[in-house]
Amino acid sequence: MNSYTLSAPAKINLYLEIIGDRPDGYHELVMILQSIELADLIELRPNGTEQTRLHCNNPQVPLDASNLAYKAVVLMQEKFPKIATNYGGIDITIDKKIPVAAGLAGGSTNGAAVLVGINLMWELGLTVPQLQTLAAKLGSDVPFCISGGTAIATGRGEQLDPIIDLDNLWVVLAKYRSLSVSTAWAYNTYKQQFGNSYIFDSEDVKSRTSQVHSGALVDAIVHKDSVNIGKLLHNDLEKVVLSAYPPVAQLRKAFQQVGCLGTMMSGSGPTVFALCESREQAELVKVKVREAIPDPDLEFWVTQLSSAGIQVASY
Ligand code: ATP
Repeated sequence: MNSYTLSAPAKINLYLEIIGDRPDGYHELVMILQSIELADLIELRPNGTEQTRLHCNNPQVPLDASNLAYKAVVLMQEKFPKIATNYGGIDITIDKKIPVAAGLAGGSTNGAAVLVGINLMWELGLTVPQLQTLAAKLGSDVPFCISGGTAIATGRGEQLDPIIDLDNLWVVLAKYRSLSVSTAWAYNTYKQQFGNSYIFDSEDVKSRTSQVHSGALVDAIVHKDSVNIGKLLHNDLEKVVLSAYPPVAQLRKAFQQVGCLGTMMSGSGPTVFALCESREQAELVKVKVREAIPDPDLEFWVTQLSSAGIQVASY
């Protein structure tokens, strides 16, 4: 049985709007999700035992059953118990390049990679839509991570409509190493503060969702109008995270002042990104923001938007 190494890209949110909450406890969302080239490498190797064993080079990542990569193995074992017994246990090695608890779907993309990897290792022949149905059981962002690119995500984030891929732009990511934001905290706080404006009627939800589908940002993406893409970035969660975390607000302001296409917090933060026309502009933006905030705790990544989801890197 082959070993596989998969590339598992991170995502940023070009758009995140909270419409309401749902009977299943999740929020009703409209998002525009975008893959980036910053990616973890996930190796799956048969280990000749009955156990799943996790290894990771980042001590912030849990190595127990709470890891999304581990949960993906359990999901596949439950779905295909006989095949799982025949093939035996797997060693999963996560080479973590994506910052943890950063709003970049680092855990979700690892879960997605394990689903794709096991599909290959066990020769299951599952299609992308079949893998995405399984992925939705692991988490709202996991189906997107499988296919990647640029997509409108609705429902709790698992219903996807791909848009033309935007892979020509560059992005600078910045995050304080010691700062992380809990996704659950961000959504709960948003609900406490803005819950009275939530939409509940299903027709109203549909109409709000279709306004985004036919809205200005999607139009700008379709026409690769980078200036308007930069101007139309939006994230409702900034309303709670920026006020609770002043350094994140300061970082956001610093990006705004140095001249990029646009800047926004990704997901529930605390990563802030700046969209740029070229690698040169991205490197310059990074230098200027580092000068404006000379804090050694602040880390930067320069990367490109990508059209790739989970891909086999080697086998
Ligand atoms: P999202 O954008 O999907 O909300 P995130 O990028 O904000 O996620 P993650 O990097 O997925 O955050 O980390 C959130 C928490 O998930 C971490 O604090 C960690 O305990 C847990 N976790 C579980 N599996 C993983 C994994 N494979 N990689 C990183 N974190 C993981």
